[in-house]
Amino acid sequence: MASVTTTQCNLPGTKEEDCFAWPYNTTKVPFSGQSYLQSLLRTHRFDLPRLLRPPPQLDPTQWLSEHLRQLCIELGFYLTHLHADCTEQTCPIMCAQEMTYYCAGHGSPRPCSAMGYSVHTLDYAVRQLAVGAGMKHFQSMVRRLYRIFAHVYFHHREVFESQESARGVYAWFVAVVRKYELSPESLIIIPEMPSTVKDI
Ligand SMILES: [Zn+2]
Ligand SMILES: [Zn+2]
Repeated sequence: MASVTTTQCNLPGTKEEDCFAWPYNTTKVPFSGQSYLQSLLRTHRFDLPRLLRPPPQLDPTQWLSEHLRQLCIELGFYLTHLHADCTEQTCPIMCAQEMTYYCAGHGSPRPCSAMGYSVHTLDYAVRQLAVGAGMKHFQSMVRRLYRIFAHVYFHHREVFESQESARGVYAWFVAVVRKYELSPESLIIIPEMPSTVKDI
């Protein structure tokens, strides 16, 4: 659709699967890491080595920031798929298996529902990325964001699996975390699941 390729934005009413559907010209000046990543995701979403390879215009940390920004956008979509199953009634406290987590999206950490934790943590991460947080902040950000996936995996398995086969956001998130060594392996508690990742 010509209008999409020329406007390079998600027009109101664009379906989730059609978002970011424009091609990106890598020789364009100024180079936009975000547009480049969005176009890569459109064509190579499940090719993690390709997604993670920084373009020559960006250093690895800049490329990491682009990934984290885009992961936050996609986690926003992810939460909209979770709303019906994860409510104040079903999940009044944020947890994954027997672990419960306090929400840091307030003045001081406090208990929140799983959905509250997810929304507050995501908002907090987006704000941190907007002010140009560095590697040290990325580690705690990633640890908190990881718990959203862990909650969905352990408590809403069907949503996790359907989202993972459609979008592969968790596999992408973990690949970024591992490449940049943002979390100890001991905190990566979701088992490897090759069967849930789309075979393309
Ligand atoms: Zn829940
Ligand atoms: Zn909260």
